[in-house]
Amino acid sequence: MVTQEATQNQTKQAWEKDKAHIIHPYANFEKFAEEGSVIYAEGHQHWIYDADGNRYLDGIAGLWCVNAGHGREDIAATMAEQAKKMAYYNTFEDASSIPASELAAELARLSPGSLNHVFFGTGGSMANDTAIKMAHYYFNLKGMPKKKKVISRDLAYHGSTFLAHTLTGIASTQIGFDLVKDLVHYVSAPYTYRRPEGMDEAQFCDFLIQELEEKIIALNPEEVACFIAEPILGAGGVLVPPKGYHKRSWELCKKYDILYISDEVVTAFGRLGHMVTSKDMFEVEPDMLVMAKGISSGYIPLGATMVSDEIYEVISQPKKANPYFSHGFTYSGHALACAVGLKNIQILEEEGFCQHVQQWGPYFEQQLKTLEDLPIVGDIRGSHYMLCIENVANKATKEGFGDEVAIAKRIYHHAKNRGLIIRPIGPLNVLSPPLTYDKAAIDETVDILRSSIKATMDDLV
Ligand code: PLP
Repeated sequence: MVTQEATQNQTKQAWEKDKAHIIHPYANFEKFAEEGSVIYAEGHQHWIYDADGNRYLDGIAGLWCVNAGHGREDIAATMAEQAKKMAYYNTFEDASSIPASELAAELARLSPGSLNHVFFGTGGSMANDTAIKMAHYYFNLKGMPKKKKVISRDLAYHGSTFLAHTLTGIASTQIGFDLVKDLVHYVSAPYTYRRPEGMDEAQFCDFLIQELEEKIIALNPEEVACFIAEPILGAGGVLVPPKGYHKRSWELCKKYDILYISDEVVTAFGRLGHMVTSKDMFEVEPDMLVMAKGISSGYIPLGATMVSDEIYEVISQPKKANPYFSHGFTYSGHALACAVGLKNIQILEEEGFCQHVQQWGPYFEQQLKTLEDLPIVGDIRGSHYMLCIENVANKATKEGFGDEVAIAKRIYHHAKNRGLIIRPIGPLNVLSPPLTYDKAAIDETVDILRSSIKATMDDLV
């Protein structure tokens, strides 16, 4: 029998090894030097347990990804079965597997319009890199090699590889890093809460669309390859664009022969109550659609770049100079990962997760909005199971707290002590729980948030 002491020793050793050897993504090295990591050990549905056995509501689904919930036996069984049969074989050139081909067909079924072709990778950044490379390759083959520039948006988050980091428009993330030069150009984020004074939402939408068109013209449409957008910006602040924004952006792209890339890494696979949102919620049929995270509910790294028939037709023409499409990763179409993706889609559909989110999402939003009476809650926004609180020092002027206050981090600590994990990003507290979240979990989350925000206000007095 494992004693409590043995478990504590193991946790302590893990904590020390982690501190000594892991460079954490988005580490805050000063804090890390003081505190090290929390070691998480187990999960079940929307609960997660640290290695000391403390239970938390996982208000962020790991990192916007464990959509089907933690600890699913059926996914574990699928993994074991596929691992025993054939965990991996490459998909280069002419090789494939049953899970890869079946998942490709499933993704084509779920995707809007003519997005019938998929390039597999292992995550969102890689899938976005693929999309940009594909856009360039496509225009090169069409005899339009000048079409290279990419338009992204302030506060966009598209990942962390060299190229995906360049697509990311969150200024603070760019400090100290060199990015791809002169490739990506940014337009304003659809930050409705902080829109210019005196504009209503419809006018703000006009403003953003006009800005995008002016940017395209200034860059020269003949040199612009693509526009990339998350349907709802995630890490940049859960920004829901004004009504009609995406449709009008897409129409502009069509007008100027610019490819529209929808980054659905967070929004697809049920988080907003749809398997894919671009068309169903935002009336856009993108030329490329990027998926990751919820595609496998985080059980295994997997990403996908969906490509339209039109693009596929151009890139798949036989070529003389080099007959090969020289782009590929060892783990593209990984059999085990694709088997998990397939099982995950089956679970999400058969267990009615989209319907569940459609039923409980509005309740979640409504309950969260009850926190608006608190003096430091400036804005509550988002949609369904993708929500966020923006904390402010002054509600009337929307003035924020100074960085030194670390307001969201304080709220995060209070919430964690009360058994809820949320994600602090700048002044924001983000919620993106597993889609298993039910009424009881929503109610508990909102209660904990209220007392955590109040406790934080008390600290600041
Ligand atoms: N795109 C969006 C919208 C994301 O939120 C993320 C990650 O959070 C990425 C891309 C990058 O995905 P990954 O971290 O799997 O590379």
